[in-house]
Amino acid sequence: MYYNDNTFIYWQGEIVKASETKTDLYGQTLHYGYGVFEGIRSYKTASGITKIFKEVEHFERLQKSAEALNLPYTWAADQLIKASYEVLIRNNLQDAYIRPLVYAPANMSFNPNKESFIVIEAWEMQPFLGEKLLSVMTSSFQRPNPKAFKIEAKATGHYVNSILASQEAKANGFDEALLKDINGNIAEGPGANIFIEKEGVLYTPQPGSILPGITRAAVLEICKKLNISVIEKEISPKEMQEADSAFFCGTAAEIIGIASLDKVAFTKPWNETHGAKIQKAYKDLVTEKSTLKVFQPA
Ligand code: PMP
Repeated sequence: MYYNDNTFIYWQGEIVKASETKTDLYGQTLHYGYGVFEGIRSYKTASGITKIFKEVEHFERLQKSAEALNLPYTWAADQLIKASYEVLIRNNLQDAYIRPLVYAPANMSFNPNKESFIVIEAWEMQPFLGEKLLSVMTSSFQRPNPKAFKIEAKATGHYVNSILASQEAKANGFDEALLKDINGNIAEGPGANIFIEKEGVLYTPQPGSILPGITRAAVLEICKKLNISVIEKEISPKEMQEADSAFFCGTAAEIIGIASLDKVAFTKPWNETHGAKIQKAYKDLVTEKSTLKVFQPA
């Protein structure tokens, strides 16, 4: 359950009960998938304090996504971070998923709007469920053409593609899908970026047809600290198949190992992979257990 009668959300500049809010059935976001959102997590840290992970990066991306789609955006990151903490406190949440959504008013045309609205919802999400390894299927769906969409924006409409791919994989008995880009190279999962390991080096698709994730950026920084070589480049399906190991990363997925692709198992035992090391470092990072410092401003 995402909410009940006692759930509070941030809406129209106030903390209100979710059950007492409403949305417009003539909204342009609902009809055309024209909105932007974020997926953020909070963790109970080692000190017992609840912290939102990479909160500035997420709200900056929300603003960039809105601007990419010409959605009016009038909020300061500070204000929304404060509101997010308020939502956590009012709902007594520690390990949680936070979902801000910027949506358009009633508008059945394709014309731009004078205003947008924002809602911030949150619900409990237990961390580190990713100990299990995934069985992944190469999707028959490609990622959207980057010349058809602002692919680096986290736009609601893009997620029809994610839903189709994920549902196809599950209907075929797999845990998750892996999508290629329009040129047939490996792109990403429906809601996570991918890394592969080959002969001690990590590879990940360069931006262009992916959502360049905040977790992906954190993994790149962790690699720097752990002296793991990582190369951003085009990855062909053959390179993917011949990888020693692979993992997905994302705010919800965290770091999760991939056991097999199209029923062919990766050969390197997960515990011996860079992915396993990074999984541990990431866990320490989000719970502030380590001295590993990432995201020093350049
Ligand atoms: N790709 C897609 C398509 C996603 O939806 C997500 C989740 N936001 C990611 C990658 C990972 O991004 P992040 O690490 O910022 O959550």
